[in-house]
Amino acid sequence: MQILHPKFILTPDKILSNHAVAFDSHIQAVGPKEALVRRFPDAALFEEPSALVLPGFANPHLHLEFSANKATLSYGDFIPWLYSVIEHREELLPRCDEKCMTKALRTLLICGTTAIGAVSSYGEDIEACAKSPLKVQLFNEIIGSNPAAADVMYASFLERFHRCKKRESDRFKAAVAVHSPYSVHYVLAKRAVEIAKRENALVSTHFMESRAEREWLDSGTGEFASFFKKLLGQTRPVNDPLEFLELFAEVQTLFVHMVWANEQELTKVASMQSTIVHCPISNRLLGNGVLDLDRIAPIPYTLATDGLSSNYTLNLYEELKAALFLHPNKEATDFAKELIVRSTKGGYEALGFAGGIIEEGMPADLQIVSIPEDLKEPKDIYLHLILHTQKPKAVYIQGVNHA
Ligand SMILES: [Zn+2]
Repeated sequence: MQILHPKFILTPDKILSNHAVAFDSHIQAVGPKEALVRRFPDAALFEEPSALVLPGFANPHLHLEFSANKATLSYGDFIPWLYSVIEHREELLPRCDEKCMTKALRTLLICGTTAIGAVSSYGEDIEACAKSPLKVQLFNEIIGSNPAAADVMYASFLERFHRCKKRESDRFKAAVAVHSPYSVHYVLAKRAVEIAKRENALVSTHFMESRAEREWLDSGTGEFASFFKKLLGQTRPVNDPLEFLELFAEVQTLFVHMVWANEQELTKVASMQSTIVHCPISNRLLGNGVLDLDRIAPIPYTLATDGLSSNYTLNLYEELKAALFLHPNKEATDFAKELIVRSTKGGYEALGFAGGIIEEGMPADLQIVSIPEDLKEPKDIYLHLILHTQKPKAVYIQGVNHA
């Protein structure tokens, strides 16, 4: 048993001062230090007078298999980026072996992330994730818009899903990703969602990420028209967006991006058990614009980095800084608190893991972060946490310090 006594605890909704947290693998009590020391006389006491404790972050959308990318892919505009992924993936994928993925997972962890949702396109990341101390939902992805190749694509998905399933533990779960409405044939998407329903697995899908996706799905026009004609000889989209959304009505789903979703689609998503995953840096770099957070309310949303295929970092503190500056109409101190709450409690909820809250009975997934010495107003702590943190001092998963 350990007792941590920081200057502040962010639960994350509340700021507690003059409180300590006692934990082994789980949080046993939160209360005044003296009371906890009396109650747990054998516990090791750690004084952190210039630090705060908050829950670990959840980063529910990233692509570990592309972690070798730094400057191989073309940023700026979605379709040229997609062409560059197709052109360079044979070179990029082998450059990220298990060691490279383990390194990416380590970066996530030392930067305060304790739970992730990783989209797995090829199954190359299963072992690294299964061995990691992080809590992982591994989204085995299905893709394929050509009906002639549907059986082959489905067999590949199923093989990876079952391989992943065999490695399941309390921390590692097999989940399902349907790539997107433009890239997965309706029948194939339906079969994958059926598996998720049967196995009670979490689902993730990219939806309305780009203007090109909007135009293609609405009218079969725009930049995707020449893309599909050239690469696949395809002249029409394979999904109606609303029919596609309907597939997810009975499963818990993370809808990733949603920048170009229309009112009807948002109403549909609001009626389901779903969370929107907001990746502001990725959206910025690929020229997809900024998600309108007022327009998506009341659908819950959470933050994610996306992969290193469309970001320069997997550090969620960088994503929080970007979110703060990409939503200039939000009052900064209130919005900083909202971002922290959504990246801890909200992210854990979206991933279906217990945690993200500092409360008796919850897993001890925690981070200790230094506070600026000159902080005057405790209520400003959320904003300064985002502005001044690159990396926490310590990161605990189930009570074990990994940083
Ligand atoms: Zn993605």
